[in-house]
Amino acid sequence: MDIFETLESNVRSYCRSWPATFDRASGSRLYDEDGRAYLDFFAGAGALNYGHNNPVLKRALIAYLERDGVTQGLDMKTAAKRDFLWTLRDLVLEPRGLRYKVMFPGPGGANAVEAALKLARTVTGRSLVVGFTNAFHGMTLGALSVTGNAAKRGAAGVPLQHTTLMPYDGYVDGRITDFALLERLLTDSGSGLDLPAAVIVETVQGEGGLTPARIEWLRGLARLCERHAILLIVDDVQMGCGRTGPFFSFEPAAVQPDIVCLSKSIGGYGLPLALTLVKPELDVWEPGRHNGTFRGINPAFVASAEALRTYWRDDELEKSTLGKGEHVARVLTEVAQAHPEIPMKVKGRGLARGLALPDGEFARRVCRGAFERGLLVETSGPDGEVVKLMPPLTVTRDELDQGLALLTESVEGALE
Ligand code: PLP
Repeated sequence: MDIFETLESNVRSYCRSWPATFDRASGSRLYDEDGRAYLDFFAGAGALNYGHNNPVLKRALIAYLERDGVTQGLDMKTAAKRDFLWTLRDLVLEPRGLRYKVMFPGPGGANAVEAALKLARTVTGRSLVVGFTNAFHGMTLGALSVTGNAAKRGAAGVPLQHTTLMPYDGYVDGRITDFALLERLLTDSGSGLDLPAAVIVETVQGEGGLTPARIEWLRGLARLCERHAILLIVDDVQMGCGRTGPFFSFEPAAVQPDIVCLSKSIGGYGLPLALTLVKPELDVWEPGRHNGTFRGINPAFVASAEALRTYWRDDELEKSTLGKGEHVARVLTEVAQAHPEIPMKVKGRGLARGLALPDGEFARRVCRGAFERGLLVETSGPDGEVVKLMPPLTVTRDELDQGLALLTESVEGALE
């Protein structure tokens, strides 16, 4: 038994899927302490869109540390934070015509979600928030209350209240008209549904099984929110920062959410950083009403600003992500077509792709086989039935093909 098993809590999870002891990482690869290389098609659950230890970001970080730049800065003004805010404004918000105030809610995605829910309730004076089936928004109580997964909800230990979950796009296989249910509940004074403060949505459900909402569905949702004066929160923690192609995953729908949650790859180097972006008129916070120690991890500002300057000055990354994503979808479709006797479905958007298999046990066999072959992939979906592929956006075509070949072999292997 090693120290991880004897000392670390039973709650640990990824190390059970990948029982190696990792030591180094570079680009799309992780290396265990014996020097064995693994292609990482999980990318820190979406926190490593620019790859492990990206050399450009690393140089900026080393220079910052060498000159004794502030590391822990609470929410004080620092030069690093100023540079980050300027860069975010100039390269991300203004070119997209987005007017948001930037809130630092704490280091992780769940912090961004908690802040969004609190603010929406404060602004509207209403308590109910609508989430969607199979959504995932994080592990804190507020975020869990808009999360679908029964096992995760079950760990809360208290009733999860003041929320209700509605069918996500495609949930009832197109048998009911989009929003017919929500619209009816909202307009019927006998429905028992209070007017919600907000609706929180992922444009592609990452943990929920790589399920994309159609662009028209997202537009319809935004219109419905507007009609009923409900705030629209887009949780772009996993699908933001270019994972689906554009910087914000909602861009193709041409909607302007009232609140946007960002984390994971906004830190650039895998360092903790989260943002809650809010329309200026909603920024009604009293100073200090949402505080926290780790809201100013300055090395994360440095890496983040450098990542924005390196990858978001033009649309090259977006185009390459869309091209690579199409390639992954083509290969997965070939895998599925090679076995017409087994129901498989290719899901996702951009470089967030999934292969839905008949059940979770099958998907776990595929992921185990992939690990043995040197590829890190994880399952997602309500029963863990979807093999999820999220390589760094900086993955090369060669690495992509190597990983896809290992995955194809793993599916074949799981069939034997
Ligand atoms: N929101 C979404 C859409 C996520 O995918 C996640 C994490 O996977 C979170 C929120 C929570 O982020 P964190 O794990 O950093 O708290």
